[in-house]
Amino acid sequence: KDQLDLFGVLAQLMAEQIELRQIATTDSLTGALTRRAFEVEITRECRRNSRYQHGLSVIAVDVDHFKKINDNYGHGAGDLVLKDVVAQITQNLREVDFLGRMGGEEFVVGLPETGVDGARIVAERLRETIAGMAIISNGDRINVTASFGIATLSRADSDWKEMLGRADVALYQAKQEGRNRCVCHQAELELF
Ligand code: GH3
Ligand code: MG
Ligand code: MG
Repeated sequence: KDQLDLFGVLAQLMAEQIELRQIATTDSLTGALTRRAFEVEITRECRRNSRYQHGLSVIAVDVDHFKKINDNYGHGAGDLVLKDVVAQITQNLREVDFLGRMGGEEFVVGLPETGVDGARIVAERLRETIAGMAIISNGDRINVTASFGIATLSRADSDWKEMLGRADVALYQAKQEGRNRCVCHQAELELF
């Protein structure tokens, strides 16, 4: 009987362990990876890429005028928009791609084995999909757009942070140029 109890305690500990890991790696609202989990994934992909050099790209995504959605329709509607946007993004990605929620309404897509041309195509598809969505909340039809910044790992990068920095610069430019668009940051020494 004592032995059975010990198994019970171990099973309980393992279940708690799994739950804690889930909390640490998954954003509870949207199901995207947490920033921390995204960083683990992108670090791993960077390392893989330095061995096989098949390319690695990221797309920084920021929902346009999201504050207005909260102001006009309420925070609950804003939450629903984030959930639906993430669901649509996920549906349009491959199994190997990954999506992190970096903050409020900012996300980053990681695209393994993808060069700049492939990343452009994915970003444009995501942009169109999001712009075509209608989110229904309390009888309101909410339309939403997002801006996208694309960057690809370069030989000159010491790590993925430089690539993500370029994606952020490109995203900023997309906002400046009027939002609901994709901008690609071309590094001088792009691998692919
Ligand atoms: P821009 O087009 O320049 O990106 O404008 P914006 O309004 O999207 O950007 P801004 O950074 O001014 O506003 C982001 C807003 O997102 C502010 C914050 O209250 C809201 N927000 C952050 N996290 C959440 C969340 O989890 N749920 C909801 N509903 N709102 C959130
Ligand atoms: Mg925004
Ligand atoms: Mg933002």
